[in-house]
Order: sequence, then C-alpha cells, then structure tokens
Amino acid sequence: MRIDDNSIRVDRSKCVACGICVDRCIMDNLRLSIAPCRQVCPVNMNCQGYIRLIASGREEQALEHLRPFGPLAMLIADSCSAPCEKACARRKKAGRKEEGAVHILELKRYLVKKYKDHLNEIEAPAKKTNKKIAIIGAGIPGLAVAVKAVQSGHRVQIFEKLPDKEVQDDLLKPIAVSLQRAGVCFSRDAIHQTGLDPHSFDAVVVSQLDDVRFINDRTEKENSKPDFNSQTHFLYDHLFCCENPDNPKNSPLHQISCAFETMESVNRYLNGEPMDWGRGFYTQDGAVKAYTADQRIGSDVQRTPKEGLKDGLDEKTAVEQASRCFSCGRAFEKNQTCWYCLPCELECPHDALEVRIPYLVR
Ligand code: SF4
Ligand code: SF4
Repeated sequence: MRIDDNSIRVDRSKCVACGICVDRCIMDNLRLSIAPCRQVCPVNMNCQGYIRLIASGREEQALEHLRPFGPLAMLIADSCSAPCEKACARRKKAGRKEEGAVHILELKRYLVKKYKDHLNEIEAPAKKTNKKIAIIGAGIPGLAVAVKAVQSGHRVQIFEKLPDKEVQDDLLKPIAVSLQRAGVCFSRDAIHQTGLDPHSFDAVVVSQLDDVRFINDRTEKENSKPDFNSQTHFLYDHLFCCENPDNPKNSPLHQISCAFETMESVNRYLNGEPMDWGRGFYTQDGAVKAYTADQRIGSDVQRTPKEGLKDGLDEKTAVEQASRCFSCGRAFEKNQTCWYCLPCELECPHDALEVRIPYLVR
C-alpha cells in the first residue's frame, strides 16, 4: 500500500511525528509512519521530534520529547550506542562518502546537558491508582521500572539498600534521588534480609531471574524459570522479571528497554488487558511491521562532518546539524474516511497539518 492522501496535507518540514492528530481523529482515518531512527530505538524515543524542534530554534519544545524519560534521559544520553544513526535515512540516502548520519546522539546530549535541571522531576498523574508495586533491585532495570511505575500513578517500594552501597554510580544516584522525591520507598535491607510478602503487593518485578529464588521461598513455588515469557516478561501469579534471558548481559539501553516492556506488561496485567502485545509501526510506504530491537547494531557509524563534536555541540552547530534531518516520519491518511471535522488540524501543536476541504471557503 502506498501512502496516498486525499484530504490531509502534512508539511514534512514541520511535522514531528508526535501522533496527536492520529489520536484526535474521530473517524480513525489517520496513521503515523515512524522515522527509521525511531523504528530502531530500543526505548522508542522520538528523535525526529527533538531534532526538528532544535532545527527551528524551539529547544524548550524539543525538551518535551525527553521529559517522559525524566532522569533516565541522562543515563540514556550517556550510555546510548546510537542505533538510530545507523538507520538514519540521511546516511542511507546520501550515498556519498562525505555525507553521514545526522548526529542524533550528540543532539540528544546537547539537550540533556543544557537542560539537565529540567529532567530531574518524575511527573506522576494527579489521580493515583492505589496499586502497590514491589521492585527487587535498584540497578538500571529496577530504577527504570520504578520511573515508569511512578508515572503510571502506582505506589512503589524498591527492595535494595540505598543510597551508599548499591547505588553508587554517578548516573544512577540522581535517578534514585528523583524517585525518593517522588515518594518511592527504598528498603533499608538487601532482599534476602527483608520481610517482603509478595502477596501484599499488586505486582512484583524482579530485576534478574536469579532474584526469583527469594520470592519462591515466600510463594512456595519451585524454580519458575521455564515459565518465563521473554516477550511479556511475565513469570507467574503477579510476578514479572526485567531480564532478557536471551541476552542477560545487554547494554544499559537494552536494560532500560526491557524495563519499559516489563512495566507495559504490568500495567496490562493490572488493568485486565491482553498480555500478548507488541510494538508495531508503519513504514514509509504504509506497511505495518513488528518492532524487534536488534541488539547487535550500534555505533560503528561514520559520522561526518566532525567539526564541533569534540566538546559537544554548541547552539549554532546543533541547529546546523539538526537542519540536516529529512523529517522522515509523518501522519498520513490511511482509511480516506475524512469528514473534514478539523480536530486534527486544530490540535496539531506545530501547525503542520491542513485538511483540504473541497468546495468550502474557510
Ligand atoms: S533524517 Fe532525521 S528523521 Fe530521518 S532517520 Fe535521520 S534523524 Fe531520523
Ligand atoms: S501533523 Fe502535527 S499533530 Fe500530526 S504527527 Fe505531525 S506534528 Fe504531530
């Protein structure tokens, strides 16, 4: 199927592929094609969004694309291996040696460095769910699950000593501090010393499969590893595990990705929704594909030009670099059931979408 719009015109140079218009369409007419950089991002970060906004000098709006990650944005910017740059359409289409991928990672670092004080808070919804989540382990997966659980409105307790021993890392400590500010309790003792009663929580998330034995003792279960579902991260009862057994020593970025997938499954479990879920996306030609994070792809990308990268980008080089982006993703009309009712056009935050109304003078 080719993308062939009749009633909807989207200005590529303005569209940040945020998907708001798709959500607002009452006729289920619109779909979103996702840029290659975002398709391969293990944490589904909208690179096109922040890059387009940096290019047009709207850095505070660009920051909104990092805010859902809260303090994890700093960890991601620091540890990311930039699979996005390998997939970048600019790199592929350029076809010339002197051209290269957009410096997506450097642009993210530029934003995070400049606005790090704005990324400390974890925004919880005003309406809490009253669900209690226990998280075993305060490493990267445990903290990432906790951030998502707080953002989902749950009450969270982390079972691991804090702050001086296990969470010494300069990158993890600010996340732990933000979680404490957001009301997350950290146990004083290590897991085997706590009186954790798994049944007093609505869901329990362990960081590693090895930790399951501490829970098994208290749920009278035998070894549960064979039941583990690596797609949904579901173990049994109300127990979930972040670890990906196919690649237990994966990168920090993939640990965060697994943590996000785990929390998606936890929320589905708590809401009684189907657990067999997957991330799909529309390609540029309108085909639907399932997302699979390729853990091999990484940062062997030749990035040019290199000027200005030594000490990171400054504002001028950031704008220059961001302006190289093709803005690949966009909303498009799929079902051609447009009723010209206009919420998509009115609610587009970037004035990128126009509904072409036949025979009507506006
Ligand atoms: S050109 Fe821009 S939108 Fe397209 S893949 Fe590269 S960074 Fe992403
Ligand atoms: S057209 Fe506007 S609302 Fe729709 S995806 Fe693009 S920027 Fe977002």
